[in-house]
Amino acid sequence: MPVKIKFLGGVRTVTGSSHLISTDKTDILLDGGLYQGRRDEFYIRNTTFNFNPRIIKALVLSHAHIDHSGNIPSLIKKGLRCKVYTTSATKDLCKLMLEDSGKIQEEDVRYVNKINRRLGLPLRKPLYTKNEASQATHRFRSISYRQKFCIAKDIFVTLYDAGHILGSGIAVLDIIDGTKEIRLGYAVDLGRKNLPFLNDPHVPKGLDYLILESTYGTRLHAPIQEAKIKLREAIRRTVERKGKILIPSFALERTQEVLYFLNELLKEKAIPSIPIYVDSPLAIDITGLFKHHAGFLNEKSQAAISSGASPFELLNLRFIREQRDSKALNLEKRPMIIIAGSGMCESGRMLHHLKNNMEDSRNTILVVGYMAKDTLGRRIVERMPVVRIFGIEHELNAEVVIINAFSGHADKNELVDFVGGCLPLKRIFLVHGDLDESQALYETLAQKGLNVYLPQKDEEVLLD
Ligand SMILES: [Zn+2]
Ligand SMILES: [Zn+2]
Repeated sequence: MPVKIKFLGGVRTVTGSSHLISTDKTDILLDGGLYQGRRDEFYIRNTTFNFNPRIIKALVLSHAHIDHSGNIPSLIKKGLRCKVYTTSATKDLCKLMLEDSGKIQEEDVRYVNKINRRLGLPLRKPLYTKNEASQATHRFRSISYRQKFCIAKDIFVTLYDAGHILGSGIAVLDIIDGTKEIRLGYAVDLGRKNLPFLNDPHVPKGLDYLILESTYGTRLHAPIQEAKIKLREAIRRTVERKGKILIPSFALERTQEVLYFLNELLKEKAIPSIPIYVDSPLAIDITGLFKHHAGFLNEKSQAAISSGASPFELLNLRFIREQRDSKALNLEKRPMIIIAGSGMCESGRMLHHLKNNMEDSRNTILVVGYMAKDTLGRRIVERMPVVRIFGIEHELNAEVVIINAFSGHADKNELVDFVGGCLPLKRIFLVHGDLDESQALYETLAQKGLNVYLPQKDEEVLLD
């Protein structure tokens, strides 16, 4: 029987990455990502599998982002019994990220059930709880980069640095198909060159097939150093008018990137020495893992950490765990920087800081990440004059600064260069992109004479 890929999720969209690889002896999964969308669709997509999770022999996990790892606990609830192979950094990050995801789902169900009880509708259960998420991580086994590892009778995996987030991997599968071998690369998600503390993405050689992300099939990013300059200017302006700087940020990677640049700016005396607060227990724990897994960082950052000068520990920085300390920040009137979640301003402590500070025109809201449609973050990006928080209208008078240069994904040119480095290839499968982005990359690669394919969800493709 020929080797097959079934594109289970994360095709023609950026969320819910998961792919089934089958030989005549073995079925394995590449990623088990959470599909993030509206509540009903969320529940159906993340609990309905058109394969039996019990037969899966191994799951290879590329990195700790929830759209790649977040459905592993529900796969386990539906019978998945195998080991999850990933790097040690991803393993530790996933414990925090999955527990947080379980906690969010418990909270959401509590909120929905309050309404359902009133309306006499059936009560819901969370997709998985914090405790179930924690249990799931017991299945994780860590493997090092560049170590060829046998995960089934006829499949070997080697992980290489993807340069996307801490511990992220490009997976290379060596699949034995009768007398021949097929080498399949999986670069989802693919990072960028010159990120401040990560290594550049590795370019795997000798591949027959490549599954590649296409998040930015049309876009070109500004150099990441531009983010540092914009950060500097916004902070200087705000301090001059005695305001506060609010930075809504994802706990994983973006928070550490912002800290890294703040650290550099402080050392260069390019910004005034004002207090900086990371007001998020999750971001605090994740930042701790960056130090613990320093081996996954680039040489410069490793050397800084081993000499006791971690780029994530700043003199003026305070980590805030307790809610009462978070609230106390409202009483302080001096200029300061507050970094908190959630990244898209939909929940978390950032909501309180926005509510208390957005009406004051001396303050600045610094947007450092993607804000999806229909989120408060998007309304801030669009500079709506009035926004609603906890059901109350607030005027948006604070300055809004948008920094687009932060991105952990390869842009259009970097994707094309990466493919160029992997050639020759029999075929390239484009996944992990909204349709217009994937299609644009498809056309760019097809024009170069490459055999490229845009699969449909649940489509099965043979590899020979
Ligand atoms: Zn990612
Ligand atoms: Zn992703």
